[in-house]
Amino acid sequence: MKVVVDMNKCQDHGQCVFAAPDVFSMDEDGRLLYVPDPDDALRDEVEEAADLCPLQAIRIED
Ligand code: SF4
Repeated sequence: MKVVVDMNKCQDHGQCVFAAPDVFSMDEDGRLLYVPDPDDALRDEVEEAADLCPLQAIRIED
């Protein structure tokens, strides 16, 4: 699975971090970090994160 976050849209509020902490995290400056090629076992988490993102900045590509 490939995950792409549009960093021009992302406002670093972190809803995705709560939904999928294995994939999304915040650095010490509060900027979003993410795993661009997470294991398929994490797909449900990532889909939930994409649904929750208020800016719709998360895209899942196979
Ligand atoms: S939920 Fe969306 S806007 Fe918020 S940090 Fe995650 S990707 Fe960025």
